[in-house]
Parts: sequence; C-alpha cells; structure tokens
Amino acid sequence: MGLLDGKVAIITGAGNGIGRCHALLFAQEGAKVVVNDVGGTLDGSGGGNAAADQVVKEIEAAGGSAVANYDSVATYEGANGVLKTALDAYGRADILVNNAGILRDKSLHKMEEAMWDAVIAVHLKGTFLCGQAFVRHVRERAEQGDKGGAIVNTSSYAGLMGNFGQSNYSAAKAGIAGLTRTWALETAKLGVTVNCLAPMAKTRMTTDIAAVPDEMQPEQVAPMALYLACDLSADVTGRVFGVHGQQLLEYRMIMTDGATKEGQALWTASEIAARLKEISALPHEQAAPGPAAAPQPLTPGQVIEQAFTLMPQVFLPAKAKGWQAVIQFEIKGADDWTITVADGTCATAKGKQGEATCVVTVDAETYAAVVKGELKPEKAFMAGKIRASNLADMMKFGGAFDMKKAKELAKQAAAGAAPAAAAAAPKPLTPGQVIDKAFELLPQLFLPERAKSWKATIHFDIGGADPWTIRVADGACSTTKGKEGEPSCVVTVDAETYAAVVKGELKPE
Ligand code: NAD
Repeated sequence: MGLLDGKVAIITGAGNGIGRCHALLFAQEGAKVVVNDVGGTLDGSGGGNAAADQVVKEIEAAGGSAVANYDSVATYEGANGVLKTALDAYGRADILVNNAGILRDKSLHKMEEAMWDAVIAVHLKGTFLCGQAFVRHVRERAEQGDKGGAIVNTSSYAGLMGNFGQSNYSAAKAGIAGLTRTWALETAKLGVTVNCLAPMAKTRMTTDIAAVPDEMQPEQVAPMALYLACDLSADVTGRVFGVHGQQLLEYRMIMTDGATKEGQALWTASEIAARLKEISALPHEQAAPGPAAAPQPLTPGQVIEQAFTLMPQVFLPAKAKGWQAVIQFEIKGADDWTITVADGTCATAKGKQGEATCVVTVDAETYAAVVKGELKPEKAFMAGKIRASNLADMMKFGGAFDMKKAKELAKQAAAGAAPAAAAAAPKPLTPGQVIDKAFELLPQLFLPERAKSWKATIHFDIGGADPWTIRVADGACSTTKGKEGEPSCVVTVDAETYAAVVKGELKPE
C-alpha cells in the first residue's frame, strides 16, 4: 500500500533536480506521474525531450507508471497541455506540484527587462496557469461528486526573506507564496489543499552557491512534498514549509497587534517614528506591566561581549585538532573581537589582535541575534549580513564550539540566578486545550438577537488541533468537535494562531 495509490500526480520541471526526486518518490508511493519538463538549460534557453523521458524510464524500470510531457508551463497552451497529458493518459489529476524553474540572476541596476520577464513567466505565471488548469479540472470533477486534490507550490528563501541579485526570482517566489495563501481560501470548498515548499538543495541551480552545502540533497525535499500531497495532510493548507537537508521548518507570516492613535487626528510621521517599536512589537515583546520590576535587556554590544567572554568555556579541542586560526570580528555598532585558536586551545580578546587568517564583518544587531539563537548563522550568511574572508575557517568555527552550551550559559548570565518560582508555576494549557475550552463555552456567549434569521454551519479546520463545527440556526448556537454537516463556510487556521486569538493575544483581523 502506497500513500498515493490510485492518484494521478502532475509534477512540472520533473526532469532534473528536486522535481525528479518528487516524481520518483510519488511513483514509488503508487501515484501515476506526469513528468513534465521542457528540457532547457538553467537560464531557460533550449529544450528537448531527454530529461523528461529519462525520468519516465527510471519510474517504469522501478515498476511504476509515468508519462512524459515536454510543454513549457510558461504559456497558457503549455500549462493546459500538461493537464491534457494527465487526462489523456489517466483520465484525471489529483495532485499538482508546481516545481519548474529557471534562473537569470543580476543585481537590480544590471537586470534587463527580458531577464525579469523570463523568470516571472516560468515561476509565477507558470504556477498560476498550471494551478488554474488543475483547479478547473477539479471543479468539473467535484460537480460529479468527486472532490479533493492537493497543490504543492515551490517558493524559496530568496522570495520569502530576500536575496542579493535575484529581483526577478525573489519577486516570483514571493508571489507564489501569495498564490498559495489565496488558493487555499478559494479551493477549500473543493477539498483541495494548497501548500508551498521552500527547498534548499544542491542541484544545478545551486552548484555555485557555497551557502548550500553538498549534504543538502534534492532527495531530502521529496518527503515533505509527498506529505503535502497525500491524505496525511488533509487538514494542512495555506502554509509554507522549508526543507534544508534534514531540517524541516515553517515560514510564517505574522501581523503584530500594532498601535492605535486615539481620536480622529491622522498619525504624523514623527509619531510613527516615535512609536515604531510599539507598532512592530509581537505580543511577547510588548512592554511588560510594572516597568520597575522588568530587568533591563542587554544591549547587542553587551550580548556580544558576553558571548566572546564565554567562548573559551564552550571550545571543543577534539574538534579543532591541527586548526590554527586568528579570526577577527569587525562588528559595526559594537567592539571588535579576536578569537585565537592554536594547539587545541582557544582565547578571545577585545579588539583586533595578531595577523588575521579570517576577517568576519557583521553588524551588532545581527550578531547579537545569532548569539541569542534568534537568527541562524547560515541564514545571516545567505542574506549577506555576515561576511567572512576565509570560508574554511568559518566551517571549522561552526564545529569547534558547543553552541547549545553557549546559549545556556548566555541565558544564565543574562538572567542572573534562575528564578526558583518557575518550578512552582502551573503548566500552561496547550493550544488545543485552549481551543477546546473556547468552543465549549461559545454557546453561552451567543447573542440570539444579533443572529436573527442567520443560518450557518462553520467548519474550523485547525492545524495541530481537533476540528470543530459551529451551527447557528433559528436563533440558537451549538458547537461540536469534528466536522458535522455540509459547511456554509470553512475556516482554516493553525492551532497556535487560533489559541492566540482566543486568548486575546492576536486580533482576528
Ligand atoms: P533544476 O534546474 O535542477 O530543475 C528545474 C527543472 O525545471 C529543469 O529540469 C528545467 O528544465 C525545468 N523547467 C524550466 N523551465 C521550464 C518550463 N518553462 N516548463 C517546464 N519545465 C521547465 O532546479 P531545482 O533546484 O531542482 O529547482 C526546482 C524548484 O525548486 C525550482 O522552482 C526552484 O526555483 C526551487 N528552489 C530550489 C532551491 C535549491 O536549493 N535547489 C532553492 C529554492 C527553490
């Protein structure tokens, strides 16, 4: 029994790299696969049948079923041609993985219009066109009572966080994340989930990018695509998951509570400047009540000083055998520091000492965030926020210190003596428990006079917690765990978000 038995999956750009691995795994799990690939070069020029044909051969050799399609997803005819191949060969389509992609990198001032157009056409327009063709087919199926399906789009760290030299690509990939959230809302009634991957893997697209290590392989991306395509994720939609080798993560869009100006007068720019911190603060960053009791947080400079002072205590001599290095840290907005590693020992000193084998440049906020574990160093590297003149020293540096212990020591130092009261504190409710309580109490809070002649069955699909149904009819309200009746509205949300709304930490709008 495979997870995709009886399903038909279309995978675009499946002739190479990540798409090929999706295709092989999906076929192994029982899907009949349409292997689409235009067969071009990395910049989208040229074309041919070999790439798609080769993957079809591999699937068939392993006992699976696949058919090739060579259309470009970047045109209306091409995208609809891909769907037609699925319908002609297998009579239906259940899964669409939008994966095809090209690169034409240049910094903003050098990017030609044609480079912009080509990348937007394959990634953003291609995703839109294939998604539209697929959803039109699912709607037709659904009219015959055959609902359901899954779309897995492909975004990127570059689109979600930004990346140097990729205006076209990052705009397309951010657009794809936007399409994912919008389609999740539009297709919920059809029983179609829409999610998005943001992979990181060594393929022809990333051969020259040092920040993507060889250990991150395209095979490691496919299991997340499979999960999002199969019934195990039936209640997961509108979400963006990162795959960095063996590490899986989620990218989340967060709205802060913001700040509201009293009265009718418009905000002034100076007021915005003065209250920007409040406008942007997450609930846990809002000023805690009783300012006298709140400890003053460390400045980035203090955090960094503490980290360098503690560093020799977390040095792992066994991991630094034969490594001699003088790493100078040029830290904008804080003191410079030097780490000297020689003969299995490590010393740190303020200022630039000795003859550097590596110079690291970084600003104080970024480095303090890395030290506190709020920002991953590899992400800071990829975003160009940390630069190093000698990558070999940096790789060794990454392995030669016990970073977990360093974070613990830093936390202890920042907090002074650990508050014993924490042990006595009651265990907080899980998001699922908060949500259950809220739905149980809801009928007691119902205002019949406000719901005159309103009839509704609302299904709450709550990622990470049980689903619930609210029914309103004839001036009465009831709630039940699970999905009951035919919904007039489906609300999809994850448990953390909904619990935060229930607790008043996050405004629903
Ligand atoms: P890849 O170049 O190995 O594979 C992309 C495939 O898409 C190629 O086989 C290519 O021929 C095909 N293709 C290009 N234009 C097409 C078109 N118009 N119609 C049909 N097929 C077309 O690259 P990859 O690394 O496997 O990338 C796969 C997806 O993952 C892309 O969307 C890419 O942007 C995304 N991605 C990759 C990484 C990474 O680290 N490799 C990171 C972030 C996002």
